[in-house]
Amino acid sequence: MSSYDYDLFVIGGGSGGVRGARVAASLGKKVAIAEEYRYGGTCVIRGCVPKKLFVYASQFHEHFEDAAGFGWTVGESSFDWKKLVAAKDAEIARLEGLYKKGLAGANAEILETRAELVDAHTVRLVKTGQTVTAKTIVIATGGRPNPHAALPGHELCISSNEAFHLEELPKSIVIAGGGYIAVEFANIFHGLGVETTLIYRGAEILSRFDEDLRRGLHEAMVAKGIRILCHDMLQKVSKGEGGLVLETLNSGTLQAGVVMLALGRDPNTEGLGLEAAGVAIDERGAIIVDDYSRTNVENIYALGDVTNRVQLTPVAIHEAMCFIETEYKNNPTRPDYELIPTAVFSQPEIGTVGLSEEEAGKRYGELEVYRAQFRPLKATLSGRAERMIMKLIVDAGSRKVVGAHILGHDAGEMAQLLGVTLKAGCTKDDFDQTMALHPTAAEELVTMYAPSYRVRDGQRV
Ligand code: NDP
Repeated sequence: MSSYDYDLFVIGGGSGGVRGARVAASLGKKVAIAEEYRYGGTCVIRGCVPKKLFVYASQFHEHFEDAAGFGWTVGESSFDWKKLVAAKDAEIARLEGLYKKGLAGANAEILETRAELVDAHTVRLVKTGQTVTAKTIVIATGGRPNPHAALPGHELCISSNEAFHLEELPKSIVIAGGGYIAVEFANIFHGLGVETTLIYRGAEILSRFDEDLRRGLHEAMVAKGIRILCHDMLQKVSKGEGGLVLETLNSGTLQAGVVMLALGRDPNTEGLGLEAAGVAIDERGAIIVDDYSRTNVENIYALGDVTNRVQLTPVAIHEAMCFIETEYKNNPTRPDYELIPTAVFSQPEIGTVGLSEEEAGKRYGELEVYRAQFRPLKATLSGRAERMIMKLIVDAGSRKVVGAHILGHDAGEMAQLLGVTLKAGCTKDDFDQTMALHPTAAEELVTMYAPSYRVRDGQRV
């Protein structure tokens, strides 16, 4: 019989931690999981899920406008921010309950407390001061918004955490950053009627995406009325008479009701007792793990955003399942990071899987690029000036599709399915042999017969 209190102790009740704890418990292991805030973690409580609900909310004013082109007369409409926040909170509470129910159903012990390491096998439960021991420990404490402490006045700014619970909608907002969160929230706030400015240090928003889509989204956002300031940064934020006053590097002084910083996220490792347990971290504070999510301490693993690998919910869940295989099924399994589909829930949306044209150009000698830009059917009657972009990047040598990129409605939904085709190694010929489904936007993906252009040695020819 084990001399430890638990077979497994999981610190952190987010996507990765809950999955690891629940599955280990369902295998008959004696498991405890501790969470200091709310079960569900960033994704459920103040990330992906409430964000997507806000995205839906922010799209209705366009739906109301578009309705006229289809013969509808929509009466006067108004929006109640507090109602939305309350409805969102109720749904999040329901999901949190489901997470706990799943854990309880598998017989994992649910602890509502912060937990810190005392040594490699001992954890202190902060609420009671009690210490418990475990054979294996998983750290899945996630991350938090980078507070950008070097910015004078950063304490006057909000992060995405607070954006979910603003007392009221501001008249204007400035969002700093050009990544997923900045871009998604810029579209949300604009859609809800807030005068929105995005300020980003680089040449173009969404630095890790295909250039074509970045430009297309930028243009679409500006056409909607979102102000985007590239090559620019906040220098100082202070309180003014009517709100906040912002000094910028290149655009002079701006004013805003709210300033939101979306400048990346930091791993939650402070005060966790990592030093006491001998767990190594990198210069950003993220836990260093090997290919199997194991830290430098044999019995301690780390999953999800706390390890600074790919910061996405499904990736954390996948890492948890690989941990289960490795630790409890005698089947050492490395997480697979190849071809992760991803979406930016901007308006229009971006959905993508595989290599951007720029990345593929560096990896393959010759590419065929298939590109379509068109007005979606719905926009004909709505009169909305919007264009979809679809792009397939094909390695000319093997004919394999190595990247697929979409800008437009339901791009995320399409990217999920394209993920299957790319993962299966489909070639452009497989796409050509697939019957179109008419009339859809996605049929463009199987009806682009001739390359729009080629890329040889990284150069368009
Ligand atoms: P991102 O890494 O996407 O973006 C961070 C942004 O901040 C980048 O534009 C970066 O610029 C900029 N930045 C970083 N440091 C500074 C600085 N010191 N000064 C000025 N600008 C700076 O992070 P997010 O915070 O938007 O999101 C965190 C992660 O969460 C994402 O990486 C993503 O994995 C995940 N996420 C996923 C979503 C989804 O799946 N739809 C939605 C939201 C988040 P630069 O590009 O020049 O480095």
